[in-house]
Parts: sequence; C-alpha cells; structure tokens
Amino acid sequence: MECIFCKIIEKEIPSVIVYEDSEVIAFNDIIPQAPVHIIIIPKKHIEKISDITSEDIDIIGKLIFTAKNIAKEKGISESGYRLVFNCNKDAGQAVFHIHLHLLGGRKLNWPPG
Ligand code: 5GP
Ligand code: ZN
Repeated sequence: MECIFCKIIEKEIPSVIVYEDSEVIAFNDIIPQAPVHIIIIPKKHIEKISDITSEDIDIIGKLIFTAKNIAKEKGISESGYRLVFNCNKDAGQAVFHIHLHLLGGRKLNWPPG
C-alpha cells in the first residue's frame, strides 16, 4: 500500500495522533498552516471526495463531528476555525486518501487563495 495516510493509520509512519477510534484517526499536519492544523481521516481508504458513495455518508459525518470535538479540546471553538476538503488538482489535493483539514488559532483569510 503506497498511501501515506494508510501508513499513518498502520503506525508505519510516525505522527502526533490527537484522536483515534475504530473508524477515524486525527493527527497534526506535518507542515502546519495555522497554530492548530489537524488532519482527520477515515480508516477506510477512499481516494477523494468525488469518489464517496451513499455508504460513506456516516463516515463523512463522523469526520466533521470529530473535528468539532477536537476544536473544542484545542480551545478554538469560540475564536473559530475552518474545515476543508481539497478535491483533485485545482484544489491542490496532494494526498489521495480523503482528509478533513481543521485549521484555527489565527484569523483565516477569505476568500482562500
Ligand atoms: P492536501 O493538500 O492533500 O489537502 O493535504 C495534505 C496534507 O497532508 C498537507 O497539509 C500535508 O502537510 C500533510 N501531510 C503530507 N504528508 C504528511 C505526513 O507524512 N505526515 C503528516 N502528519 N502530514 C502530512
Ligand atoms: Zn489510504
């Protein structure tokens, strides 16, 4: 398996894990773009958002629920945060295992670049 995020799930690549259960895992981004930058992924390998099916609706909801809980733990619920899925080339998706970015701890610009 050549997927970096599957290797993080298998602990073949080290990461700073902030949450894990049977379905999802969350870890610090290796190149943080904000004081809080956490990646939340399903343990199921799905390449990109454009590939999800009706079977995946619950797991996508779980990613957002997990992000909301982590934001609270990190103390950025009140100040605010952004949740991002990059899908494919124009969005700059670099890792083809779906992942939710949780960004916060600073003022985030809008519109994004
Ligand atoms: P994308 O551009 O695909 O939406 O985001 C991929 C993210 O994964 C990037 O923010 C990048 O810094 C992060 N990333 C890539 N490789 C690794 C890694 O090996 N470990 C960790 N913790 N993050 C990674
Ligand atoms: Zn994967």
